[in-house]
Amino acid sequence: MAGDPRGLAAALGSAGSRLIASLRWLLARLLAPLRTGDGPNKFRLSSVETHTTTIDGDTGWPYRPPATLRCPECGSGILQPDSREDIDCPTCSVTLPPERFTDLELLALTCPICRTRMQHGRRHPETFEVPEWATCHNCQYHWEFKHFY
Ligand SMILES: [Zn+2]
Ligand SMILES: [Zn+2]
Repeated sequence: MAGDPRGLAAALGSAGSRLIASLRWLLARLLAPLRTGDGPNKFRLSSVETHTTTIDGDTGWPYRPPATLRCPECGSGILQPDSREDIDCPTCSVTLPPERFTDLELLALTCPICRTRMQHGRRHPETFEVPEWATCHNCQYHWEFKHFY
């Protein structure tokens, strides 16, 4: 039997493939924890990056945080989620175009990320009648009217 070259080759072949198979299995076992450890890590990293770009905030009036304005008729707070949307009072019939924003009293800006009331202000009170920046002290989201650099 050992003298039969084909039998030997076959024996070696199956032993060899069995060895490769077990090496593959071992390699897979070794790499598996690495891979699973890698995955969430990478995910966490990229989600942190996404988080940062979102948190670092937005610039420009179209990306302004949701604003609450005082209705000139009934005095209730009107939420204007988007700066391009009509200012539509929920309690009376007042509906104003977005351009009328500056005529109304701004009650609050709401953080688009965590819904906290934001601190806001102007950088050039004599030139702008709208808030130029807003910061959320809860999640650090920051909005700027425009780039200041
Ligand atoms: Zn109203
Ligand atoms: Zn926030």
